[in-house]
Amino acid sequence: MTSKKTISTLKKPQKIIKGRIKVKMDDGSEKSFFAIRSQHNNARGPFKGGIRFHPKVTEDEIKALSYWMTIKCAVADLPYGGAKGGVRVDPKKLSKQELENLSRAYAEFISDHIGPKIDIPAPDVNTNPQIIAWMLDAYEKKIGKKAPATFTGKPLNKGGSLGRTEATGQGGLFVLEAYLKSKKQKAKGKKIAVQGIGNVGYWFSVLAKKAGFKVTAISDSSATILLRGISLEKLVRLKKEHGSLEKSAKKEGLKTLPSNKILELDVDILVPAALEKSINEKNYQKIKTKTILELANGPTTSKAEKALINKGVDIIPDILASSGGVTVSYFEWLQNLKNEKWTKEKVNKSLKTKMVKVFNEVYETKEKHKISFRKAAYILAEKRIIEAMTKGEH
Ligand code: NAD
Repeated sequence: MTSKKTISTLKKPQKIIKGRIKVKMDDGSEKSFFAIRSQHNNARGPFKGGIRFHPKVTEDEIKALSYWMTIKCAVADLPYGGAKGGVRVDPKKLSKQELENLSRAYAEFISDHIGPKIDIPAPDVNTNPQIIAWMLDAYEKKIGKKAPATFTGKPLNKGGSLGRTEATGQGGLFVLEAYLKSKKQKAKGKKIAVQGIGNVGYWFSVLAKKAGFKVTAISDSSATILLRGISLEKLVRLKKEHGSLEKSAKKEGLKTLPSNKILELDVDILVPAALEKSINEKNYQKIKTKTILELANGPTTSKAEKALINKGVDIIPDILASSGGVTVSYFEWLQNLKNEKWTKEKVNKSLKTKMVKVFNEVYETKEKHKISFRKAAYILAEKRIIEAMTKGEH
């Protein structure tokens, strides 16, 4: 394959499975939902990527996200290609039984196209280990045998891995530490602000604090709170109880700032861990930090990135910083294939080795070509994918 042909192949997914799935509702009726799986590229190994349940799922979005998974797995040097799946549905409007029916129907819909060596789905937006357990059960019933390595992100008692819940935050922290090492700087006392205190933001914050960083502020969609006179752990406990940071602050008599203020604080490291495009043309001028660690997917627009880099800000991109989750998914798959159960220590040690190696590879490429971290990560990934696609051809 010529490199021109290779690049044009990379522009579109290899296969799209799409249609409508029928789901039995609690009132006895049947409803149909748009469902899709985009298998982008498998030159480096089986397709890999999450499944999202969201009212705004579109074919274009899923195709783009599947390309992005091909890149992410290649940057992390995992033996996987990229895929993404989704159902256009508002899961909040379904009962638990309806959600189970939907999950099972989706697994049956894609069952001819997945498997441990073909395509390995995982949770994504609004899907979780319980949903994956229903999907695995439906899949195994359909094929008539056990095949836990077909899905990752499973509950522990269904073949899930220890350390998966905190993997993205933990992986991001390992990358941050490797970055500081490259700058000959120490973690101790460095101030961090974290936007979004869900799974990723929460675990990152807790582990960063343990590692000697100072998490000085956190935010959610309701407010920003400076961590003065209240601990991170207590605040997150209160948020669980009251639903939002703003309500929690009110109960405790704490001062709050508007949600977006988190981006403007005077900190050493800013960690967007919530939404895409949260750092954009409208707010980049107000950003004071010199380092952005992207744990959310696509939090910085390209215009904002250009301007920030010109101001001397280092942006450690999502495709590098947030790959801890898919890396531990890979460890889960390995454990299933080898019939092993790793300890949490082994998972974390392997994750650290992997994340540090990946950071160093991206860093070397960045230094060699004098480019941004993001460009370096893309160059590395595309080189690896093209090599795999042209293997053995001369
Ligand atoms: P989550 O749903 O658990 O948490 C999201 C958090 O963002 C919530 O606390 C929510 O209140 C907050 N939020 C929403 N709108 C906000 C706003 N306007 N300002 C501030 N905070 C806001 O999701 P998650 O799993 O933690 O994922 C967060 C991001 O990380 C997403 O972009 C996701 O795609 C990305 N990511 C997640 C994983 C993973 O393993 N979970 C892996 C890679 C990337």
